[in-house]
Amino acid sequence: MKKSISIIIPVYNEQDNIEVIVTALQEVISKLDYVWDITFIDDGSNDRTLENIRRQSLLYNNIFFISLARNFGHQNALKAGLNFGKSDCLITIDGDMQHPPSLIPELLKKWEEGYEIVYTIRNDNNDKIPTLKRKTSKLFYNVLNRLSDIKLEPGTADFRLLDKKIVDVLRGFNEDDLFWRGLIKWVGFKQTSVEYTPEARKLGKSKYTYRKMMAFGLKGITSFSTAPLTIAIYFGFISAFLSFFYIPYVFYSIYFGHAISGWASLIVTVAFLGGLQLMILGIIGMYLGKLFIQSKRRPHYIIKESNAM
Ligand code: UDP
Ligand code: MG
Repeated sequence: MKKSISIIIPVYNEQDNIEVIVTALQEVISKLDYVWDITFIDDGSNDRTLENIRRQSLLYNNIFFISLARNFGHQNALKAGLNFGKSDCLITIDGDMQHPPSLIPELLKKWEEGYEIVYTIRNDNNDKIPTLKRKTSKLFYNVLNRLSDIKLEPGTADFRLLDKKIVDVLRGFNEDDLFWRGLIKWVGFKQTSVEYTPEARKLGKSKYTYRKMMAFGLKGITSFSTAPLTIAIYFGFISAFLSFFYIPYVFYSIYFGHAISGWASLIVTVAFLGGLQLMILGIIGMYLGKLFIQSKRRPHYIIKESNAM
């Protein structure tokens, strides 16, 4: 019996890319000996994305869609896809053609060799991705690797193949801030990676603004590391230690009667400690916020409509 593959594509306002990616995938996969289907996760698009997907699913009986009630974000849309894939393996790929479908045969080859997770790494030595995006992405991976126990290669992408076994495991993940590339590394099993050179975005524009990327980065770090809390302790300790040296100076000033001249340094100290406290409070608040959100146990997404169930 032929093995089956499910391709999961989260899309948010990608109206012009739907047909492009369907054609590209068909071209690649129809040459291979698998039963396969595509499921688009429409992440609350407000353009003609859903309409265009619907058209494709009328044309081909192996194209499905799950439409979410609003924009739940890329990672949650991926979760919706994971929850519905029933095939022997599942491949997640972006809908903007930045992840080359031509790499899929290579992913499948590794899978046939016995790997249960085949993830991809973006080869960043080219100008298809904006420089600032490349630089900030590299910085992020360095910080994350330093602070947490998982080791993520810079450029790890949400383009990957997962064996059914892994999909079953990941379905049970209910933590609030999903950060798939970290979670995938974390689960273990037999993993390997494949490098790819990204294409420039075909049509439409990136949904990850720098602000969103910053938020995504913080999410990744605080999901996998409590080290920032420890950093706060060190900072507090160091500043307390430094201010200890300040006390003799205070006595000295009082003794020589020019205490009033100490005003400037007093302000500086107050400001410094104030800033430090705010910083530490901020870090603690971030984790507390996570606990708060998590304690509500809300679903990751809500399905409005689908032809996949
Ligand atoms: N995406 C999504 N929901 C969002 C943002 C993005 O489903 O809230 C999809 C988007 O349509 C694309 C993929 O996730 O298929 C990656 O997004 P994008 O290309 O904007 O990110 P970048 O490649 O710039 O990091
Ligand atoms: Mg993209």
